[in-house]
Amino acid sequence: MNEKIPGGGNGCGNGRRRFLKAAGMAAAAVAAQSLLSRLAAAASPPVAPAAGPGADTSRILGGTGFRVATIGFGAMTTRDPDVIRYAIDRGVDYVDTADCYMGGENERIVGRALEGGYRAKVVLATKVHIAPPDKMIASVENSLRSLKVDVIDIMQLHGISSEGEVLDGNAREALSKLIGQGKIKVAGVTTHGGQETVVRAVMKHGFYKTVLVSYNFRSEAALTGAIREAGEAGVGVIGMKTQAGGYPVAAGSALSPHPAALAWVLGNPGVATTIPAMVSFAQVDENITARGKRFGWLDRKTLARYEALIGDRHCTLCGVCSGHCPNGVDVSAVLRSLTYAEGYGQETLARETYRALGEIDRSAAACGSCGGCAVRCRVALDVRSLASRAHAALS
Ligand code: SF4
Ligand code: SF4
Repeated sequence: MNEKIPGGGNGCGNGRRRFLKAAGMAAAAVAAQSLLSRLAAAASPPVAPAAGPGADTSRILGGTGFRVATIGFGAMTTRDPDVIRYAIDRGVDYVDTADCYMGGENERIVGRALEGGYRAKVVLATKVHIAPPDKMIASVENSLRSLKVDVIDIMQLHGISSEGEVLDGNAREALSKLIGQGKIKVAGVTTHGGQETVVRAVMKHGFYKTVLVSYNFRSEAALTGAIREAGEAGVGVIGMKTQAGGYPVAAGSALSPHPAALAWVLGNPGVATTIPAMVSFAQVDENITARGKRFGWLDRKTLARYEALIGDRHCTLCGVCSGHCPNGVDVSAVLRSLTYAEGYGQETLARETYRALGEIDRSAAACGSCGGCAVRCRVALDVRSLASRAHAALS
């Protein structure tokens, strides 16, 4: 459950402005077709993986040289180091954090979890924002101290959304220096916006060995294709936000959708591993059941039911509406903030993420007085209503 789009996310605002284009149409006209597409997506995993005892429980992480279990650990919201250790004891061997999660505290929590011999059992990934090289290097050195490690396996450029950022000279200079100094092993990127563009740019330009991408059963088909091609091209693809918001399932529901959602993601052979966010021992126990799991008819039904529950509120971060709002609202980031509150149940993270948008005038403050919403959502969300709800709850 994790992801940086223009201006903010995960409490990690980077203050980068983007140019906006004016455009837009109402979403209602596409509602029926969109619903059919979404149900079709749930019904059709990208490719059924091999399954059965011992089958497909770990994969090669592109050109990094690492082989990792298909269920990793997204630590963004984890406060108890014992939960991370519990997962590692059960074969989870990929841990993802960021310098900015919990204002820096999350790296220190991960650092505590990796004491006592646990560090050697995992591939450790964290993140840094694009900045002048000396600032990026200082940020990575701070991460090394917070994590209490000598080397970070994967240092990811945080929240990029364009080919230009994949080619950014400052980032390449800093990360190359850090690799040369032995402080990091490989460089990767993360993206929540312009995802297909970023995945294809990483494939095209090399240097970055991994891409962390928001990907779940509600994602667009074009992203599925790009991920598959990237995997074939030797890019290590890591899936985040794999459970489409992690919304609580209504009391009385027979089955949790989460293992099914993970199995759907891992049905794409281009995905090497996933990083569902986990805050409890029970979540670890549940998610690791998706290792080697075949996506079957029951999973299809489960996801269709989950889709019906979340379809009117979950933004897939596809970026299709980017620039549609004439008032500059960063719709996908606003709705991601709302998901942090209503899906993850992470109020603090939701407020941090939303308020970072306010700092760069991309919040939903304008929605309340807007005459009519110009944003056309790919999955027919009522953007104005959801954005206004986010503003009321999180500003
Ligand atoms: S309702 Fe909000 S998101 Fe929609 S066009 Fe108006 S200001 Fe933009
Ligand atoms: S609001 Fe709709 S179109 Fe925009 S990013 Fe979210 S799902 Fe895609």
